[in-house]
Amino acid sequence: MTQQIIWSNILLQCKKNVQKKIKPYFKTLSKPQPDLGVGAGGDQLKQVDLAAEKAIINTLKRHKISFTLISEESGVKEYGKTPHEHFVTTDPIDGTTNLMRGIPFYATSIAVSTKPFLNNIHTALVTDLTHNITYLAKKGKGAYREGRKIGPSKNAVLEEAVIGIDLNTYNVLELAPRVTRLIQRTKHIRHLGANALELCYVADGTTDAFLDLRGKLRTTDMAAACLIIKEAGAKITTPNGKPLNAKLSPKQKVSFIAASNPKIHKAILNLVKPRLKKEAK
Ligand SMILES: [Mg+2]
Repeated sequence: MTQQIIWSNILLQCKKNVQKKIKPYFKTLSKPQPDLGVGAGGDQLKQVDLAAEKAIINTLKRHKISFTLISEESGVKEYGKTPHEHFVTTDPIDGTTNLMRGIPFYATSIAVSTKPFLNNIHTALVTDLTHNITYLAKKGKGAYREGRKIGPSKNAVLEEAVIGIDLNTYNVLELAPRVTRLIQRTKHIRHLGANALELCYVADGTTDAFLDLRGKLRTTDMAAACLIIKEAGAKITTPNGKPLNAKLSPKQKVSFIAASNPKIHKAILNLVKPRLKKEAK
């Protein structure tokens, strides 16, 4: 057995290293980027994504940790002698398009688990890389933003709620009717472009809900934020209100409704549910 690993400290070192290693690329973001093909998650690879991923891998290696990496960029890779001891699921940069275009909303996302499933995540970090704000959660120990315990909003009035919806899909004709009634009822709809961070906003009460019904979000993108949201005391379920669990893999897709409290969650669920007859599970 290896010595006890303080994962929260390791993840903080990972994010520091990510911040350091991506900096040099900021100067050339507006220039044409080399064609690196697509990553395991299917998105076009950028140098900055790979640099962030390498920073995470190297930090873990430096601590002589054996682990299985489950990454949006490289896919599944094993490191060390006992790689199934720890599963490290990461979207090294969530919101790369925002970063490339200078929109200050992107994050690094890292989750650690004992098995490759959402429910087995025990430590998670999401860092807003523009503002250097870190969300950290440990299973059973709560969620923290820059060291301060966080909780979701208590607002239960849909009309006053700030609600994020990921509308980024070619299947908008299919998606739009599902969310029409919700959009009609609310005044403040947002789509900020980095799901991990948008979920953290629900966790700390910045927004009241965030939903992604597209069926195309990878578990690598939301693994860390999923623990953060649960530990903060907010709610995250499938679009049918069932408990959310899924395999951690760059190929595994999920849909979900995350909301600050059961009342808002139920209100949203009722508005989108009748349109979801074909939704799996
Ligand atoms: Mg990414």
